[in-house]
Formats: sequence, structure tokens, C-alpha cells
Amino acid sequence: MSKEIKIRLVELAAGSVLYLGLLIGGWYDYWNLAVTKEMEPVLFMAAYVILAADTCWQTAKKLRHLQLFDENLLMLFATGGALYLEKYTEAAAVMLIFHIGKLIESQTLDHTKRSIAKFMDIRPAFANRKRGLGEETVSPEELRIGQIIVIRPGEKIPVDAVVMRGLGNIDEKALTGEFQPRSVSMGSRIYSGSINMDGVLDARVTRVYEESTAAKILSMVEDAMSNKGESQSLVERFARFYSPIVTILGILVMLLPPVLLSGQEPETWFYRGLIFLAAACPSGLLASVTVAFLGGLGAASRQGVLIKSGSYLEALSQTDTFIFDKTGTLTEGTFGLKEICPKGITAAQLLEITAYAEAYSSHPIALSLRDAYEKGIDTSRIGYIQERSGLGIEAVIDGMRVYTGNVRFMEALGIQTQKVKGSGTAVHAAVGRRYVGYVLISDRVRGDVNDTIRWLRQQRMEVMMLTGDNEHVANDVARSLGIEYVYANLMPQDKVAQLEEIMSAQLESEKLAFVGDGINDAPVLARADIGIAMGGLGSDAALEAADIILMEDEPSRIINAIRISRGTVRAVKENLYFSLFIKVILLGLAFFGGVTMGDAVIVDVAVLAIGLLNSFWVLKFPE
Ligand code: ADP
Ligand code: MG
Repeated sequence: MSKEIKIRLVELAAGSVLYLGLLIGGWYDYWNLAVTKEMEPVLFMAAYVILAADTCWQTAKKLRHLQLFDENLLMLFATGGALYLEKYTEAAAVMLIFHIGKLIESQTLDHTKRSIAKFMDIRPAFANRKRGLGEETVSPEELRIGQIIVIRPGEKIPVDAVVMRGLGNIDEKALTGEFQPRSVSMGSRIYSGSINMDGVLDARVTRVYEESTAAKILSMVEDAMSNKGESQSLVERFARFYSPIVTILGILVMLLPPVLLSGQEPETWFYRGLIFLAAACPSGLLASVTVAFLGGLGAASRQGVLIKSGSYLEALSQTDTFIFDKTGTLTEGTFGLKEICPKGITAAQLLEITAYAEAYSSHPIALSLRDAYEKGIDTSRIGYIQERSGLGIEAVIDGMRVYTGNVRFMEALGIQTQKVKGSGTAVHAAVGRRYVGYVLISDRVRGDVNDTIRWLRQQRMEVMMLTGDNEHVANDVARSLGIEYVYANLMPQDKVAQLEEIMSAQLESEKLAFVGDGINDAPVLARADIGIAMGGLGSDAALEAADIILMEDEPSRIINAIRISRGTVRAVKENLYFSLFIKVILLGLAFFGGVTMGDAVIVDVAVLAIGLLNSFWVLKFPE
């Protein structure tokens, strides 16, 4: 139980004992306390003050930020007026019920956050660091890059590291949302927050704790949860208008009837205006909205989809255009070798040149060429390497200048290329200015992409593809997936320009999502309404630039993320309409003097409870 909730509970207990005691009377007779009729108002007043203390404090905090109109202020206003009219019992009663509502609200929020945190149980508690021949137990924060740690079966991996010795299986469910053990051996990267299932691993620290995967994910989830209430435009728009409007209406109720109609008591209308204000208080609604959004964020993170804030969750439900990057996103990003076409050198030499040039690149093409080369790379032969994103690589190998990349790159260098036979992605190579042939590779479409695209199209969304690859490959992939719009041959900056053009043709309410793998497309991820990056594990660029992160390389997770977002927004809207409906009735009754202030607040608590129940469904979203 949080401290805040404890304070509220104590206030509630003290206030309600005093209040009920006074109401029922008797206890002061029993204790032979002489409570005269004159003292009662003072004691009711005391009960009121105890119960209102927290609300006053909240309002004072907000006043400093000049966020004037909120439900706390409305409530203080209404009950303050009641005190002025010497309706002490009523003021205390209203505060009591309001206080109970607040308590339910914070208890639920607390519970929701806790249940999300439970699923995000990735914070490592300790690390075993090698020291001389022995080991010492330290906190993960104390580890430095290059130190050697030992991870035993069942232990959580404390920081990102690379395995030096040992074999084992790693459970990454807490990070990716899916249980699929990954076997690791020397040279494998392991990520903090995952669990070593078997085998003893020695590993070298590659990132300090704060920079490691678990800490980054945790801080992201915490950020997302703390800016819940403010960030959703849906509620923001509502709250911005609602509170000022009802406050003004409340004041009009107080002033107009006595002025315009003859024979009306100013005091009656002042009181009705106060009831009106109490009835208008939107606290029940706001709490249920927050719970719905938190629930949505939590349900998504359990499925390995990290959403950086509630506003992206909301935007996702309004998305009508999905743009996919090709390489590494729609396709697996591991290319198979199709053909080696050397010119003037041997096939083995050509493959060697390309593999060496790609020695340090993390581009899927580079990984595949190094795989195809099969032999180890002797880095001492490499003098210099520069990657030209969207084009290829410039390198110095064995003292010779080497270029590898696409036709555009060769053209820019003024190197004549051979015409490519067969379909696929050609990686051309030149030594000095001499063209030495090309390696033809082709990538495969990911297993779950077909279903994902089909689902998106069933939902009447536009699906497009952007790629830096050539039209041939682009069209082949697009045709096999049923994607209508294809833009090929794009440099990273062209992708942004193309995206902006598509976005400018859209309405404000239509959101566009870009799905990429974070390689060569970080600018586009950042520019889109919603940037969705795949492969959160290991890619910093993706974690930083994207708004939504799929922890596993599975585009199909977008489907559930969209379902969750729609579920959340539906719950929020239902709560909004329901509570507005009740409010309108209540405000009408208040105007005609049909309800007391206490009734109004009890109804608000009921609206809160119903809204919360409705919002809970979001958190319980089926796996
Ligand atoms: P995509 O948009 O399909 O993800 P990229 O923008 O990453 O593709 O790359 C576009 C093109 O640039 C690739 O198809 C390839 O021809 C060339 N290219 C990029 N990086 C490299 C590299 N490291 N080696 C060779 N070619 C590369
Ligand atoms: Mg790419």
C-alpha cells in the first residue's frame, strides 16, 4: 500500500468516526461529554477539515502550475459554499463520499500499476563478478564494461553482455512476451532481464546497467505510465472544455433565476448552483480513463509490445495507413546467396572482397555476405571502412580501395556495371575503379507477414512499402504480399520525403504508422505519426526513435496491439458517454432542486465504480 493511500485511509477513518458519531449522536453522551447544540457545527466542521485536507493539498499543488479547473477545486467550491450556508452536516457528508471515491481511485491505480510491474519483472537484483580466482556478489549498477560475470542456472542476467564461456538456454519471455528458449554459446549476446535456464555462463559486460536492455525498458514503461493522464488527446480535449463550462453554468444557475424571475430566493439558487457544481464533478470519469489506458499499456507490454505513451495507444486505434520498410521488416533480413558473377577475378575472390568490405556493417546484406563467406575475417587486413547508408560500403582492404553496393552507388562513382541476370538484390563490387562483378542475393518474406498484411487490408487500411532496394525485388515482394503501393530505390532521406508526401495527403484524424527495423530508417520512424520498430532487443536506434517497439521480430504482433488499442479507446468512450449521460440527468435534477449535494456525489462514486469495472476488461485482454 502506498504512503499516499495510507494517509487517505487514516483521514477517512478519523473523519468518518467523528462524522458518524455526531450524526448518530450518543457517543458523547456515553462518555459524558457535554456537546451542546452550539458545538455541533464546530465538530462537523472539524470532520470536514480532516476529510478535505488531502483535496486542499492536491488543489494547492495544481494551483502552482496554474491548472485551475479540476475536480478537486470544483468540490472545494461546492462544499465551501455549503459551509457558508451553514449546512455543515451536508458539507462533511459530501467530503466523506468524495474522499471514499478518491480512495477507490488511487487504490485501483495502485493495483493496476502493480499488476503491470509484476509482468515486467525484469529488474535484476544482483550480479556475480569475477575477482581474481574467486567471485563477489555486487549490485548490477556496480558492473563496468569489460568485467567478467558469472550467471548460474535460474539467475537473471544483470547487464547486457557477451558469452565468453559455457553453453546454455536463455528465457527471454520477460522481454519479448513469448517463451522461446534461445541457445547461447561463446560469442552470443545476452540481454539483461532475461533468465539463464541451465548451464553456467561466463560473460563479458558490454553495457553498464543503466544502458542495458532491462533498465531501458523499465524506464520506458515507467515514463509511459506516469504521463498517462495528460497525454491522451481524447480526455484532454474533454477536460479542457468541460470543467470551465460547468463552472460557468453553475455560476449562472446561482445568479440568473433570482435576477430574471420574480419571487425567487437568492439563497435557494445559490444552493442549487452549489449542488450543480458538485454534480458536475468529473472525477469518476477521469479515473476510469486513466485505468483503461494503463490497462492497455500493460496488456500490450505483456505481449512484447512496448508503447511509449497512452497517446500512441490512442493514435494506433485511429491508424488507417501502414507503411512497411522492406529489408529486415517484411523480409527476414537474412539473404540467401543466389549467384556469384565475377568479372576478371575468381568467384572466391569476389566473395572475399565483399565479405571483408562488409566486415563491420550491421546491415542485413552485410550479415548475409559474411555468412556466405563462411571463413573468419582477419581484421588486420582492413585499413578503413565507411558505410554509405542506402548505397553500400567504401573500404580499404590489403591497401586497396574497394567499393561494394548497389547500382546507384556504382553510377555515382562513375563505374560501369554489368547487367544483372535473374531477380534478387545485386551487390556490385569494384576494386579501385575496376568493376569486378556482383553477388546476387535474395531475401525471404517473413513467415507471419502474409497474415499480417491480409488482416490489415481486411480492416480497410492502406498498406504501402518503402525500400532502398531495386524495383524488381520490391515489386516481387509487394505482389506476393498483396501490397498495392510500392516506392523503391529510396535513399534514407528519400524515405522521409516520400513519407511526408503521403502524410500531407491525409486528414488530421487519420494516423499513419511506419514499421521498420531501425536500420537506415530511424528518421522515418521518428517522422511518422506512429513509428513502430521491430527487434527491440539489441537495437538502440529502434528503441530511441520509435514510439512503439515490437520486442520480437514479428510483424503479426501489430495485430494484437491494434486490438488492444481499439479495446482501450472503446472502453474510454463508453465511460465518457455513460458518465455524460448520467451527468446531464443529474444536472437537470440539480437545477430543479431534485437532488441534494450528497446524492450527487454518491452518484459520481457509482459512475466511478462502473467505469472502473469496464476499464478493467482492457487489462484482462486475452493473451
Ligand atoms: P530497405 O529500405 O529495403 O530496408 P536500405 O535502405 O537499408 O534498404 O538499403 C537500400 C539499398 O542500399 C540496399 O538494397 C542495398 O542495395 C544498398 N545497401 C545498403 N547498405 C548496404 C551494405 N552494407 N552493403 C551493400 N549494399 C548496401
Ligand atoms: Mg531496412
